[in-house]
Amino acid sequence: WTSSTIAVVTGANRGIGFEIAHQLALHGLTVILTSRDAVVGEEAAKVLQERGLSVVFHRLDIVDPSSIEAFTESIKEIYGGIDILVNNAGVNYNVGSDNSVEFAEQVVATNYFGTKNIIKAMIPLMRPSETGARIVNVSSRLGRLNGRRNRIGNIELRKKLEDDESLSEDLIDQTVNTFLEQVKDGKWKNGGWPQVFTDYSLSKLAVSAYTRLMARIFSELPEGQKIYINCYCPGWVKTAMTGWAGHTSPEEGADTAVWLALLQDQSISGKFFAERREINF
Ligand code: NDP
Repeated sequence: WTSSTIAVVTGANRGIGFEIAHQLALHGLTVILTSRDAVVGEEAAKVLQERGLSVVFHRLDIVDPSSIEAFTESIKEIYGGIDILVNNAGVNYNVGSDNSVEFAEQVVATNYFGTKNIIKAMIPLMRPSETGARIVNVSSRLGRLNGRRNRIGNIELRKKLEDDESLSEDLIDQTVNTFLEQVKDGKWKNGGWPQVFTDYSLSKLAVSAYTRLMARIFSELPEGQKIYINCYCPGWVKTAMTGWAGHTSPEEGADTAVWLALLQDQSISGKFFAERREINF
């Protein structure tokens, strides 16, 4: 890899995102480290620049359309396009074993709609190359369609989300919006939603479903203009999000993202991974 390969990482000022930026830069790429807060973002980029790595900071708040627009414009102007997009930015307000949906709107707006909006903004900037352009979405095992303990109770809805024929952007949007309406009405508990960290789990289920959907849409792009998209679960990682609990370090949590971003096998798209192995959605 050379510095002419451009990778964008969202929410890269700390945690897993910072490590993804770090490891991609160690491979010789130019990494655009983004953060919604300019001060902490500049600081984080400086840490990597001081290690001699090719890292530049750009501000990006994935829930703010004007920030997405400004970011897209400056990337177009400065670099012309990008090769890799890692959607890492995310929030979770559940602590301990809580299942608080108090912040459901913010969780869904960031983890699902924010991720979707930045993908849509970046698609026109993704450069066709020999290895194809890559998108990696940081999802979670908590949002599996067929997780044993934490799946959607409504079998009909689950089947629709599972089936490539019925999966659509509208269906994913409707699913999360129905949940948000039930949260507002105080009825979500009987809605058959995931049992653990409900808002967060559903937002990640939506990210994973969107990954599958986009892979199918991208597969119709002409040869030479392909974009490959996959998602992964980093494991339970010691970061601010988990209150530094967890089994693994941010370094280990970043590993599969970097592996997927640099993967040479072009047949791999629309899949879900953990620890570099494919897992079920
Ligand atoms: P952190 O809370 O440390 O990092 C989250 C990052 O996302 C921060 O940089 C945060 O910025 C950023 N972010 C949040 N909202 C926005 C926004 N609107 N625009 C731009 N950036 C934003 O947590 P992790 O490193 O653990 O999480 C990284 C990803 O990994 C998330 O998607 C998370 O859901 C996922 N994940 C984490 C697991 C874990 O065990 N830690 C397990 C499974 C998945 P700021 O500093 O400004 O808040």
